[in-house]
Amino acid sequence: MSDTIHSHDPDCLFCKIVARQIPARVVYEDEELFAFHDIHPWAPVHFLLIPKMHIPSLAQVDHETAGLMGRMMALVPKLALQEGCNPYPQGGYRLLTNTGVEGGQEVRHLHFHVMGGTRPWLRG
Ligand code: AMP
Ligand code: ZN
Repeated sequence: MSDTIHSHDPDCLFCKIVARQIPARVVYEDEELFAFHDIHPWAPVHFLLIPKMHIPSLAQVDHETAGLMGRMMALVPKLALQEGCNPYPQGGYRLLTNTGVEGGQEVRHLHFHVMGGTRPWLRG
């Protein structure tokens, strides 16, 4: 189930967070996107932005989901400042999406890591 696109995967950790079956510190929610704090932050600001729809990774993104990806990326600047990242260019943030085993992906539901805040960071 988890390696195809569908609206909800009952075995997926992030689908369970969207469904409020597992608690998270929610940053943002609309009809198609959801953001919450990473449980093991690397930086003073570290949240995850995900589509509510279960897309396993960037590897499944194509023409059909390109618009959603654009809206997801366009939300990053607003949420980053809202969550305490310092303004560009002296501040800024890092946007990261691990894809597949060799890409270091552990949770198979597409997510953007957004990291920022005053350095040094724990990692990254
Ligand atoms: P990745 O290695 O890119 O798949 O990243 C998965 C991220 O999900 C890691 O940074 C974890 O700390 C984070 N994570 C795992 N479980 C939870 C959870 N229950 N709530 C929030 N973040 C989580
Ligand atoms: Zn999922």
